[in-house]
Amino acid sequence: MAERVTIVGAGIVGICTALSLLEKGAEVEVIDRDPPAEGASHGNAGVISPWTCVPQSMPGVWKNVPKWLLDPEGPVALRWGYLPKFLPWALKFLRAADETGLPAIGDAMSALNRPNVDLYRRHLDGTGHEALVGASMYVHVYRNPAEADLTQLAWRMRAERDVPLQVVGEGELHEIEPALSPGYKAAVLLKDQARALDPSAIGKALADKARAMGATFRQSAVHKVQPAGDGGWTLLTDDGELRAEKLVIAAGAWSARLLEPLGIKVPLEAERGYHLVFQNPGITVNNSIMDTQGKFVASLMNAGVRCAGTAEFAGLDTAPDYRRAQVFSNLAKRLFPEINTEDAVEWMGSRPSLPDSLPCLGEVPGHAGLFAAFGHSHYGFGMAPNTGRVVAEVVSGAMPNIDMAPYRIDRFA
Ligand SMILES: Cc1cc2nc3c(=O)[nH]c(=O)nc-3n(C[C@H](O)[C@H](O)[C@H](O)COP(=O)(O)OP(=O)(O)OC[C@H]3O[C@@H](n4cnc5c(N)ncnc54)[C@H](O)[C@@H]3O)c2cc1C
Repeated sequence: MAERVTIVGAGIVGICTALSLLEKGAEVEVIDRDPPAEGASHGNAGVISPWTCVPQSMPGVWKNVPKWLLDPEGPVALRWGYLPKFLPWALKFLRAADETGLPAIGDAMSALNRPNVDLYRRHLDGTGHEALVGASMYVHVYRNPAEADLTQLAWRMRAERDVPLQVVGEGELHEIEPALSPGYKAAVLLKDQARALDPSAIGKALADKARAMGATFRQSAVHKVQPAGDGGWTLLTDDGELRAEKLVIAAGAWSARLLEPLGIKVPLEAERGYHLVFQNPGITVNNSIMDTQGKFVASLMNAGVRCAGTAEFAGLDTAPDYRRAQVFSNLAKRLFPEINTEDAVEWMGSRPSLPDSLPCLGEVPGHAGLFAAFGHSHYGFGMAPNTGRVVAEVVSGAMPNIDMAPYRIDRFA
């Protein structure tokens, strides 16, 4: 008989997990209080990089934090009332920068990301939405050419993992991206990757595909999950009590809330990000651009030029502060002087962030039939298809072809 699996969360991670389970012949129900791909998976920067292998917490990162916090246009913001709750996570985050642990983190990030472009193309093949994934480079731009320095640790980590890197000077950079301000004098190019032309539309197209393959999508909030006593799980939802044989928690930044009543503690933080989409930009951007100074990404999508980034720590329930999104108006002008910043659409979403930039994946020790698939921080759009693949393997009792130890849910205990 087909295995019956329930997934909480119809973000890109839940959707990709559903697809991989369906491919294995499972019966799948996905439950989300919202329609598919409306959480963090809606408004991200759309970078799909097989080369992602550098975590957020790097040696020396703490030195920048005071200046970032004091700058209203800076990349990090903290609601001061949230400080007591934030501090324990922040300390774990800083500890993750320990250089001895970095190679293992880099390898584990790489293992999840490496096949992502191929997997997205395969999932989208035949849906009519193949063009939502476009070829791209990741162009890291610098004002000071001396800073485009491949001897720095972050670039060394990439080079050690065979990432195709190239430093280009002013002339070549402006040929690649003519709309860039002449103030940018150099760039590091990461070649052979992809970008989403509409991340949410990709999620919705893949959810439609999952539906066509037999999955059910139920729109309902899950308030509690608990063992059913017969090896299965009970979900208390807006639709009443539901039963799950096997249960995958792919609820993004909200995942820890569902697990905590079971005595499972995970240092999961809502790392809130913002975007501003310039709907009539009047310029073209050919690749994903990383502004290394402002720490945000600019990319041309179907809806316009999207500038996305910011890490705001304020918890899951605080109302958005859209001044954080409006900051991108100035930052975009600094990057592209000719951009038309009128008619901009703002958005906020919560990255599910763990201190070491790795997700929690696999069966939860001591809780048979309960599986983790959350915590992808800044990289979940890129990590989602391979996450789906390996989680489907674990759920069906097979051995994934990557080492699962770095993603254990109890690694912070
Ligand atoms: C500004 C910004 C830019 C980013 N840029 C990139 C990028 O360029 N590339 C990249 O790879 N990643 C990027 N990311 C990160 C990426 O978007 C996330 O890691 C990824 O979307 C997480 O996917 P998810 O499915 O785990 O979570 P989500 O998309 O947030 O989905 C979780 C779902 O669970 C549902 N849910 C939660 N709790 C419950 C409950 N109790 N009952 C019912 N439903 C529930 C929610 O409604 C939601 O739909 C960015 C993020 C942000 C914020």
